Amino acid sequence: LKQQLIKAEKLKAVEQMGAAISHEIRNPLTAASGFVQLLEDDHLSRQKRKEYLTIVREELRSAERVIQDYLTFAKPSIEMSKEINVKSELRQIIKLLQPLANKNSVEIVTDFSIIGFITGDPQAFRQCFVNVIKNAIEAMPNGGYLTISTEYSQNYVTIIIRDTGIGMSKEQLERLGEPFYSTKGKNGTGLGMMVVYSIVRAMDGNLHVESIMGAGTTFYFEFPAITSISKNN
Ligand code: ADP
Ligand code: MG
Repeated sequence: LKQQLIKAEKLKAVEQMGAAISHEIRNPLTAASGFVQLLEDDHLSRQKRKEYLTIVREELRSAERVIQDYLTFAKPSIEMSKEINVKSELRQIIKLLQPLANKNSVEIVTDFSIIGFITGDPQAFRQCFVNVIKNAIEAMPNGGYLTISTEYSQNYVTIIIRDTGIGMSKEQLERLGEPFYSTKGKNGTGLGMMVVYSIVRAMDGNLHVESIMGAGTTFYFEFPAITSISKNN
C-alpha cells in the first residue's frame, strides 16, 4: 500500500509538471499561429512581413527550447539497467555542443580518467550533461574555458564541469533546480537544471555546485561506479 501511495504521488507530481510544461509550449505556439494568420494578408508591407516572421521564429524557438530541456524527464520511466561508459558518452556530448562553444569562443578542455563505468539510462545521462554543459557555455558569452574532467575511485566516478563564466550569487545558487527559475528571460526555460537534479537522483548520484560571481561555476557529479570486479562477473 505504501508503495502504491508513493507511486500515486509521483504520478500526480509528473501530471502537474506535464500540465505546466504543455502550457509553456502551447503559449508560444498559439502566438506563432496568430502571426502566421496575419502573414496571410496579401497587402502586408515588406517591413511588417519581416517583423511578423521574426516573431514567429522566436516563438517557435521558445517552444523548441522547452522540449529540448525537458525531453528525457517526460519519459514515463527511466530505464536503469544499461552500462554507461562515461568517457565515450561525454566525448559524444562534446561533439554535439562544439558548434555552440565555437559560437561563444569557448575552448573545451578535457581530462578523463582511464576507466569509469556507471549504471543508468544513457539517454538520461546525455540529457543531463547536455543541459549542464549548455548552461556553462551560455554563462560565457564572451568566451572562456570549459573544463570537463572525470575521476575514478574504488566506488565512485566523479564528473567535474567547470566554467569561467558569469557565476552565480548565493541566492541564485540556492534557487538552482527550481522549476521555471531562469535568469535568461525569453531565452531561458528554467527547466534544464530541474531535469538535471531529477536524473541525478534517479541514478543514485550526487550533485554539488560551487560558484563565484564573475569568476565561474563548478559542478561536481558523483555516481556509484561499476567496479572492475563486478564488471567481470
Ligand atoms: P535556463 O538555462 O533555461 O535558464 P536552467 O534550469 O538550465 O534554465 O538554469 C537555471 C538558471 O541557473 C540559469 O538561468 C542561470 O541563472 C543559472 N545557471 C545554471 N548554470 C549556470 C552556470 N554554469 N553559470 C551561471 N549560471 C548558471
Ligand atoms: Mg539551461
